[in-house]
Amino acid sequence: MGSAMSIADNLAETKARIGAAARAAGRPAGSVRLIAVSKTHDADAISQAIAAGQTVFGENRVQEAQGKFPALKAAHPQIELHLIGQLQSNKARDAVALADAIHGLDRPSLAKALAAEIARQGRAPRLFIQVNTGEEPQKGGVMPGAAGDFLAECRGLGLAVSGLMCIPPEAEEPALHFALLAALAQRLGLAELSMGMSGDYEVAVKLGATYVRVGSAIFGART
Ligand SMILES: *Cc1c(COP(=O)(O)O)cnc(C)c1O
Repeated sequence: MGSAMSIADNLAETKARIGAAARAAGRPAGSVRLIAVSKTHDADAISQAIAAGQTVFGENRVQEAQGKFPALKAAHPQIELHLIGQLQSNKARDAVALADAIHGLDRPSLAKALAAEIARQGRAPRLFIQVNTGEEPQKGGVMPGAAGDFLAECRGLGLAVSGLMCIPPEAEEPALHFALLAALAQRLGLAELSMGMSGDYEVAVKLGATYVRVGSAIFGART
């Protein structure tokens, strides 16, 4: 990921590492999807990734994604946009219109707003419940002990939930959090696990991630 490496090089290396980590864990090739997190990077950088074959992208702000992705999607209908950041309920309309997946479902007010928009627009992004595995007060996500009840509440609103997502605390061993999320998803019968970033995606793959969210290792450091 040095400056001499291109986005295409970085993508190839990231995919090779994901493949190796999956093989080492005895997981089938193709069981892990790479979300290239393009927040703060411009449409030109994203176009380079698309030219290198990348199809799945992640952004954490609705407004920033709205400025880049409608044109990119019109030119490249195969691409997918995942919203991975905290989502305000008043952005539910734009999020449902724009995203193919939303990873920050973490409270009843947002679930209600998304359910209303999904019904209104007839468009249903895949949904991930964010779990605050480190129980950090400043971070989004439901507490692990409340995830089962929240899942039931989402289903009661007619929402189809695909899986769970977490962002481990910065100063802690991520493997503990990935293992907790995987155990919780298994207990709840959810198939998808969104976990792992540039610094720890191989650990996440070893522990069962089906989506890894990798930004700086592909696009370089954010300024
Ligand atoms: C920015 C971001 C990422 C990617 O982080 P990197 O360390 O650059 O790979 C992953 N997940 C979320 C929720 C993010 O906001």
